Amino acid sequence: NNEEAAAKAAAVIADSGTPTIFDKIIAKEISSTIVYEDEKVIAFRDINPQAPVHVLIIPKLRDGLTMLGKAEARHGEILGHLLYTAKIVAEKEGILDGFRVVINNGPDACQSVYHLHLHVLGGSQMKWPPG
Ligand code: IMP
Repeated sequence: NNEEAAAKAAAVIADSGTPTIFDKIIAKEISSTIVYEDEKVIAFRDINPQAPVHVLIIPKLRDGLTMLGKAEARHGEILGHLLYTAKIVAEKEGILDGFRVVINNGPDACQSVYHLHLHVLGGSQMKWPPG
């Protein structure tokens, strides 16, 4: 179907290293609600929130990390920093009692933006397993 075809096309584009909408967010060419930023990462509110708190955390330098599945040993430091930032964001947002960190990887997981990002979700009772 159309949705699957679009996801596959996006994955092919990602492999070619094409910039994504997140580059414009990093460059502040399009506005976003930034909740945390340092020299390596930026965290901003998802435009289509799936929970009362829904923040995306991305590396400022994509460095080949279109998706987690492209990670190499050299990415260890930034991957750790992204995960630590999830805790910082959860703390700032007051959801340390219950939050979820999600990474959608590839077309079968409905990844839509090919610049690695962590979703931090919380602010209400969540169910397990997710859909
Ligand atoms: P994915 O489906 O895991 O790739 O997540 C991409 C996320 O980026 C989705 O939850 C979108 O709602 C979000 N998103 C796409 N464009 C923007 C934007 O311009 N600002 C904030 N979030 C965005």
